[in-house]
Amino acid sequence: MITDVVIAGGGPNGLMLACELSLAGVRPVVLERLPEPSEEPKANGLLGQVVKMLDRRGLCERLSGSPEPPQPNSAYFMFGAMGLDLSLLEDSPIYALPVPQRRIVQVLQERAIELGVEIRRGHEVVGLSQDDDVVTIDVASPGGAYHLRARHLVGADGAHSTTRKLSGIGFPGITYDRMTVRSAHATVPADWVDPATGALNVPGYGAVSPFMPHRTERGGFSYAPMPGHPPLVSTTEWDQPTTDAPMSLEELRASIGRVLGVDVPLGPPDGQGPHALRRLSGGNTRVAERFADGRVFLIGDAAHVYAATGGGPGLNLGLQDAVNLGWKLAAEIRGSAPSGLLNSYQTERRSAAQRMVLNAQAQAALIAPGSDVTGLREVFTELLRDPSTVQRLAELTAGADVRYDMGGREAHPLVGRFAPDLELHTPTGPVRLAELTRTARPLLLDLTEGASLAETLAPHHDQVDIVAARSQAPAPTALLLRPDCHVAWASASPRPDPTEIETLRAALQRWFGVAERAHT
Ligand SMILES: Cc1cc2nc3c(=O)[nH]c(=O)nc-3n(C[C@H](O)[C@H](O)[C@H](O)COP(=O)(O)OP(=O)(O)OC[C@H]3O[C@@H](n4cnc5c(N)ncnc54)[C@H](O)[C@@H]3O)c2cc1C
Repeated sequence: MITDVVIAGGGPNGLMLACELSLAGVRPVVLERLPEPSEEPKANGLLGQVVKMLDRRGLCERLSGSPEPPQPNSAYFMFGAMGLDLSLLEDSPIYALPVPQRRIVQVLQERAIELGVEIRRGHEVVGLSQDDDVVTIDVASPGGAYHLRARHLVGADGAHSTTRKLSGIGFPGITYDRMTVRSAHATVPADWVDPATGALNVPGYGAVSPFMPHRTERGGFSYAPMPGHPPLVSTTEWDQPTTDAPMSLEELRASIGRVLGVDVPLGPPDGQGPHALRRLSGGNTRVAERFADGRVFLIGDAAHVYAATGGGPGLNLGLQDAVNLGWKLAAEIRGSAPSGLLNSYQTERRSAAQRMVLNAQAQAALIAPGSDVTGLREVFTELLRDPSTVQRLAELTAGADVRYDMGGREAHPLVGRFAPDLELHTPTGPVRLAELTRTARPLLLDLTEGASLAETLAPHHDQVDIVAARSQAPAPTALLLRPDCHVAWASASPRPDPTEIETLRAALQRWFGVAERAHT
């Protein structure tokens, strides 16, 4: 028997891909080597465009526990430990969802199971080979070794990906070994915390704003009071002596003393763990030389890793890899994928990963110690008074400046971009665009006069959801959305003319292979 898709790795990105494939009608098998989900504290939350993407699948509500749609941060964020004044912007792209990674995994696993995904825990991918038709996967499991044959294998097996290594895909980049990051959940003196601002008033040093990395010429310090958890206290230092000693709160306190020049007493964290207490030395910034090799694909940390300094872009990128690949792979399996569709996964997501590398490295350079960097930061601080600079850096940080190449030199400015949030009025009542994309199907949103497109394309409703609506806000008059919510075609005409309809048909053919039927 040949399985359609096997996913190696049941971390957040593998589970997200499993959900996306299932929504598109393909039931994958997930092989996860751990018998139980990891308790290792990793991500503290999600940042950037991925928050909006999860809203478009109805997952934000499950993660945040609130029915309210996510709201942008319009106050303050940071770039290279410098403040970005988001109040200067009309449309802040910074969205944040403070949810620990183990909860993200739990929610995605529950959703995958709801959608009929088979998750085999304790099953490890240990070997693979492929020919033109099939990938053969060697699996080690508690019940013994076995082989699985699949049409496609996706490596979502993390930074040390076995899939990547067995496929012979190189992982070029840099190992930056000068930096040591120490972090711990800890208590701080209660009377140092400003109840109004949440800042930590450090005697002899001054106020340290919450969640804002703070740079001195000797290193970095941050204080992050996570809701419902003890604060996460961290330092970053350069050129520290190496040690094998277990990490301790005393070591972190000594590090704070070196960075800030004053003592900050730390106590053990309150409440139920697991609690972070770690020292990370060095870091890798690498992007796989290919995201695909024949029938094998890579997503998430298997495809890219960063020494992240800008608020953890890892899952912003990885979860969107999953959303980009899921519908394309499902179309390939159904036999409906137009030529080149599957190749576009690597083209689109590898360039998004490279942009995130640029972001991570630029921020790392800006927090490095030394008076020369201080000079650079002063110039940057002047530039950051300009709203357009703040907008660009906020978009870079959020990954909101990703625009896929979808051809069409004269295309509408939204083409290639993630579709904007829209409040719509349909014959059945008000609805947010995010609520129309939960099925992960192609969507034609028709806001034209008299819903002219909906009528033209009505015969294709089995392949493309067609929704006629009105929008109060200045909006395009029509949008064709891919399942990953990137705009494949858009119009600004109240009634698109025949030339525009031709470009719509070309987009339908390019992404969904439906233009021939649209002509008839
Ligand atoms: C300390 C820390 C803090 C972070 N903070 C943030 C943050 O705040 N925000 C953010 O967005 N990102 C953050 N990240 C990055 C984020 O955690 C990663 O990007 C994310 O875990 C990647 O998910 P993944 O599913 O690709 O890989 P992983 O989470 O590594 O999951 C891979 C899974 O594959 C399994 N596996 C491995 N090999 C095999 C095999 N051969 N067969 C079967 N299964 C296998 C593993 O057991 C694992 O469950 C942080 C990372 C660290 C280390």
